[in-house]
Amino acid sequence: MFLKKIEMQGFKSFADKVIIHFDDPVTGVVGPNGCGKSNISDAIRWVLGEQSVKSMRGSSMTDVIFNGSENRRKVNLAEVTLVFDNEERALNSDYEEVEVTRRLYRDTRESEYLINKTPCRLRDIHDLVMDTGLGRDSLSIISQGTISHFAEAKPIDRRLIFEEAAGVSKYKKRKIESINKLERTRENMERMQDIVDEIERQVNSLKRAAKKALLYKDKKSMLEAVEVSVLVRDIKDLTEANEETQSQLFKMDAEIASLETSEGVYDNELESMKKELNDMDHAVSKAQETMMSFIREIGVLESRKIEIEERRKYTLEVGDKKAKQQEMLALLNDARLEYEDRKSRHESLNAEVELLVEESYERNRKMADQAQSIANLRGKIQQLSSRLDIVSSRLERPYESNHGVQAIMDNKQSLFGVHDTVSNVFEVSEGYETAITTALAGALMHLVVDDDKAAVNAINFLKNNRAGRATFIPLTVSKPRYVNQDALLVANHAKGYLGVASEFASNGEVYNDLRDSLLGNVMVVDTIENANVLAKRVQHNYKIVTLDGDVIHRGGIMSGGRNRQNNTSSLTLKRDKEQLENELRIAKDSLILEENQNHSLSTEHKDAGDILMQRRIALAQLEPLLEVKRSKYERLKQEYEDLNPDQEIEDAEKTEDDVVVQLNSLYMQRDELTTNIALMRERRQGLNQEIQRKEILIRQYRQDLNKLTQKRHECALEVTKNNTRLESSLERLSSEYRMTYDYALENVYDESAEMSREEVMKLRNEINALGNVNLEAPEEYEETNERFQFYGKQLADLKESRDKLLSIIEEMDDIMVTQFKDMFDRINHELPEVFSALFGGGRARLVLEDENDLLNTGIDIDVQPPGKSVQNIRLFSGGEKSLIAISVLFAILKARHVPLCIFDEVEAALDTANVERFANYIRNFSNDTQFIVITHRPGTMAQADVLYGVTMPTKGVSSMLKVRLEDAVEMKERDA
Ligand code: ATP
Ligand code: MG
Repeated sequence: MFLKKIEMQGFKSFADKVIIHFDDPVTGVVGPNGCGKSNISDAIRWVLGEQSVKSMRGSSMTDVIFNGSENRRKVNLAEVTLVFDNEERALNSDYEEVEVTRRLYRDTRESEYLINKTPCRLRDIHDLVMDTGLGRDSLSIISQGTISHFAEAKPIDRRLIFEEAAGVSKYKKRKIESINKLERTRENMERMQDIVDEIERQVNSLKRAAKKALLYKDKKSMLEAVEVSVLVRDIKDLTEANEETQSQLFKMDAEIASLETSEGVYDNELESMKKELNDMDHAVSKAQETMMSFIREIGVLESRKIEIEERRKYTLEVGDKKAKQQEMLALLNDARLEYEDRKSRHESLNAEVELLVEESYERNRKMADQAQSIANLRGKIQQLSSRLDIVSSRLERPYESNHGVQAIMDNKQSLFGVHDTVSNVFEVSEGYETAITTALAGALMHLVVDDDKAAVNAINFLKNNRAGRATFIPLTVSKPRYVNQDALLVANHAKGYLGVASEFASNGEVYNDLRDSLLGNVMVVDTIENANVLAKRVQHNYKIVTLDGDVIHRGGIMSGGRNRQNNTSSLTLKRDKEQLENELRIAKDSLILEENQNHSLSTEHKDAGDILMQRRIALAQLEPLLEVKRSKYERLKQEYEDLNPDQEIEDAEKTEDDVVVQLNSLYMQRDELTTNIALMRERRQGLNQEIQRKEILIRQYRQDLNKLTQKRHECALEVTKNNTRLESSLERLSSEYRMTYDYALENVYDESAEMSREEVMKLRNEINALGNVNLEAPEEYEETNERFQFYGKQLADLKESRDKLLSIIEEMDDIMVTQFKDMFDRINHELPEVFSALFGGGRARLVLEDENDLLNTGIDIDVQPPGKSVQNIRLFSGGEKSLIAISVLFAILKARHVPLCIFDEVEAALDTANVERFANYIRNFSNDTQFIVITHRPGTMAQADVLYGVTMPTKGVSSMLKVRLEDAVEMKERDA
């Protein structure tokens, strides 16, 4: 049997456990009114998921729990179990046997459902039963007094019975689920659509912004490339121009200096020459006066001489031998005197010439020496100048070998908190440069900065520009160090100790800690020997440096010696520069001195040459005269000896001789003076020419100087102008592009690129024209677009699932329509026969209210009992209504298999003949369908295979027992 067993306990009147076994197709249940028969039917419906309190005939679901009776206490749990045979899979389960249980607790008011002892949900129970013909809306379980409901129902409610019979409830349920899902999907779609619309708006505007930002970046990088190139080219050109101009300036300075020197020298010379000229004029006029007096004297003497000669002539002509002899002797004397005078003059002139020649040789040698030493001095000056150039240029770019430091110092303005290198922040006492340089050693090129932030900033700058490395000392971290008192005491008594290194370096107070941290524990000693002694005395606890730059480190390691190019920090370079400048000045002074000396020597030489020449001329003039006087003397001497003279008169005529002597001397003086005056005139003329030449030269120099100074001024102006442009270009490069010149030159500068200022202006204008630019837009666009795509995909997915749901619904509609129509037709086909059999004629027909809407149409029933023409089904009698419902039920049973039917007094209103027909029908169907029939009618009882009697032996508590038909009829009749 399909329903094999019912177990009940605590359900309504079944307080005790009652088990009913169903072994036969037709089971009749009999018993007096109120004994609990209908409670059995209630129990079955309850287990199968009945939720309606009303149809359970209560006012609350707990009313189904046994509520106690006169002598039984109420219970707290109602439990009913149905056991089905599911071999034919009439239920939606794969089990051969299905046990369904429902429990209800009074206190929790909650129902428990179990299928095969496993807890489950109510809907699992519904699914189990749905479309089996036992479902909620089927006609298979007809409660007491509800048979007329079918006839009275609205067509649309009646439809449910046919749906259940057609087995489309599950599709309907699924359809409702799908529609709910569809509804949710639609809501989601709407929400999603809103989101997508919103994002789409954002995406569109971001797309435009991103395009703009890209354009901006493009132009910006183009501008950068072009402008940086322009800047680099400008800087390059300007630097080159400056170098060129600078070297011109150097040259001009040198030229100006030499012009000024020369001019000065010539000025001085001119001055002294003018004085000399003046002196010479005086000397000449004096000489001329002397000459005049000579000439006067000579005149007097010559007339006296003529007198004497006249007298002598006379005596010679008319005088005696003695007188003649006397006169002859006088003549001879004169001739001798004249001859001797010329001779001695000749000799002295000769001697003078020889002396002059000798002097000239001496001077020549001196001048050659001087020329050599001037050449040496010039060479030395050359050398010193070029060394000075080198030192100066190294001083100007002291960090050359240290690119990082150079880059920072070049861009100091655009960084913050940068001071200078350690080597530049201290002033060092004179003579201690090498010692301090040694003491600072590796820290010389470290950069002093305000604090760690400044250092980090500068380091980032170096990194970004790949401009090299540098070490930074933040002033905030400098901790002073000191030599302790004991060591100081020891040092103060040590030979050669000069002091602590920090004493020799100074600067503003801000650097005090830095200075003391670097130099506060370093001692300075004069020599390495003394240093060694002191080092031992202070146990090698301090670094000691010497003036020569030797060093004994803490712990005793020593280093020293001398580099080829001495230690070259900026400190020593500064000292070197001063030294070189000093040497250069001295050399230049000596050169001027030497040149002056040389000049006066050559003037002297020239003068001496003139004198020599004059002396030689005088000598040449004297020589024939000497010869004349000699031969005159010799002739007279011969004439006198021919006279055979007496010895005694030889000393006479003294006075006459004096005249000759005086005259001779005057002649000599006059000649000398004449020569001298000629000499002086010549020299005066030479001097004058020299003065004129010098004056022209000086004028020339002055003109040159003026021109040169003007030109120098222009050059200097140009350098200043260039420097301003250079600075502004560098500043722009550094502040706008954060690049050093070197970096830009190496990495960005494109020589071949079209680089014009117009291009820069054009790009700048284009960039300005772009207005506000959101540089984040491209990323934001990417991000938002991704979201847009994502939500778009979600929306598409939702649309797809909506379409799927729609097509599922459509499919289910198709199935439902087909299945429904099919079942409807089959039932309608069976109905007339069943109907006319039960009514003994007449006809019945099921009618679709709306044939075009098979999914929703209500179902009318058009019946015509024999001989009647009642149109409204409500107007039929109770028995007729029962028969109509039973006819339809039986038509359904014919049309499809229904495993179980439970009737609670459905035939109550029928007459005996109809009960008979009804019972027969049941009998006929009992091959396929199990019937449980609650009845008071013997006709029905007669067709049952087995009968159960329900009694209440204890008042209020039902119990069950099998009864025989006769007993049942008897029981019935007794009740009646
Ligand atoms: P009839 O032949 O008149 O239809 P019946 O045999 O079908 O009678 P039922 O309706 O099954 O009678 O039983 C009704 C009886 O069950 C009532 O007498 C009622 O007192 C009893 N009953 C219903 N609910 C409970 C309950 N919760 N506790 C105890 N008794 C109950
Ligand atoms: Mg009843």
